[in-house]
Amino acid sequence: MSLQEFNMSIAGEWTGANSGKVFESLDPATASPWAQFPDADESDVNRAVEAADRVFKSSEWRSINATARGKLLRKLGDLVAQNIETLAQLESRDNGKLIRETRAQVNYLPEFFYYTAGLADKVEGETLPLDKTDMMAYTIREPLGVVAAIIPWNSPLYLTAIKLAPALAAGNTIVLKPSEHASATLIELVKLAELAGIPKGVVSVVTGFGPSTGAALSSHPLVRKVAFTGGAATAKHVIRSSAENFAKLSLELGGKSPQIVFEDADLDSALNGIVAGIFAASGQSCVAGSRLLIQRSVYNKFLDALVEKASKIKIGDPALDESEMGPMATAQQLAVVESFVEQAKKQGAKLRLGGERADLEKGWYYQPTIFECAANSDYLMQEEVFGPVAAVIPFDTEEEALAMANDSNYGLAAGVWTRDIARAHRVARDVHSGIIWVNTYRVVSAMASIGGYKHSGYGRESGIDSVLAYTERKTVWINLSSDPMSDPFVMR
Ligand code: NDP
Repeated sequence: MSLQEFNMSIAGEWTGANSGKVFESLDPATASPWAQFPDADESDVNRAVEAADRVFKSSEWRSINATARGKLLRKLGDLVAQNIETLAQLESRDNGKLIRETRAQVNYLPEFFYYTAGLADKVEGETLPLDKTDMMAYTIREPLGVVAAIIPWNSPLYLTAIKLAPALAAGNTIVLKPSEHASATLIELVKLAELAGIPKGVVSVVTGFGPSTGAALSSHPLVRKVAFTGGAATAKHVIRSSAENFAKLSLELGGKSPQIVFEDADLDSALNGIVAGIFAASGQSCVAGSRLLIQRSVYNKFLDALVEKASKIKIGDPALDESEMGPMATAQQLAVVESFVEQAKKQGAKLRLGGERADLEKGWYYQPTIFECAANSDYLMQEEVFGPVAAVIPFDTEEEALAMANDSNYGLAAGVWTRDIARAHRVARDVHSGIIWVNTYRVVSAMASIGGYKHSGYGRESGIDSVLAYTERKTVWINLSSDPMSDPFVMR
């Protein structure tokens, strides 16, 4: 079967790589190649960033004011809304995510553009209440310049929308680097940005591999901000590059998010929440609720019910509406999951469900897997798998649950299941993570920020201050005195 061929967009031109090289992307449901993308090298990245810098400084982009930028974003949201099915099908094909999930995600995607469009012309400066009577000072929020957005394979459209929309609302230009495993939908999004009337070169996309294309982009001297979502090891490269180009960073990394189930919870609801947290998207989610802390009095009953429910999950082709768990997105991620499972077994974790590849003819499918762990310090309780592997442990008291929840290098998300309102608020206050869901899990909104504590990264995306994160604050001083400036050798 012939491969679908994609080009990248640099400075508004649809093009292959300078070198003419291409790479293939594999369909996770079949492990066969289905598409081909340009393999951008440093020269391509230079072209894209230099063009983005030129366009940033151009009168064409500068003359489009914040209200007009908001209108462009709203138009882009409309175009996404008109193309939901195409985008959802493409993303599902490319990264193996269930069509029912990509459809739901793309269906909500326009809201990120609409919400951010509304913020574009609400970025205000301040007049400062100074302690100097002969001076006045005010601030201006200015765009940064060229933004590099480095996107992983698990939810490319969503993770791009929350970077692209605020970057453009603030007046920046942007170069997108998708994962080599899931580039197709970002290319389609850039086509829609063009159709929306966003000037050529404001949004570019370079396809290729992380250590070459991604590294050239994040370390480029003209890049002023890198908005990165991905793994901690790669984030360290990005941080090191920023020591050279002084790019600002937002890092949305992984997690080992605890889900705490108290004995007074609605246990049926909690069961669904736990399944949503760790088996939806085959666990390939930065907010996966991968550590299950269950109060001892309901531990056996709850765990048995979870094992029973998870054993009935329908694993299958992501393109089918009835499938509940699709494949792992990449062969590497499947290997990562297998190696974690082997290590957990070696360490003596008790396997309650799964622990093997799913028995399908082709594709990278893995079974829902549940391990009981002896201590919170166990390997599986501490390390992120990014797969459908739950690590379960009992606790006796709220204090103990909190201590375990916080005994982690990560701090991205957490779930708490209880009917006790005071306890819900106490736990929400005391867990160290950027998001806490009470009696629910994996909810997102354009109005709510996401981001982590500790090794889960820094910076926040989405929400009311998302646009500010793509601006620089400038302070302007005005001398109100009619007297000549006096002593030049002292600070005023
Ligand atoms: P990476 O962190 O490697 O990938 C994220 C993005 O960074 C991709 O676009 C990747 O490109 C790019 N990249 C890779 N190397 C570099 C580099 N040196 N400089 C700049 N950009 C680079 O994630 P992986 O796919 O390798 O997954 C590893 C782990 O990361 C997972 O097991 C999981 O724990 C975590 N992860 C977290 C995600 C989240 O949502 N927070 C999403 C995905 C993974 P390319 O893919 O082409 O290499």
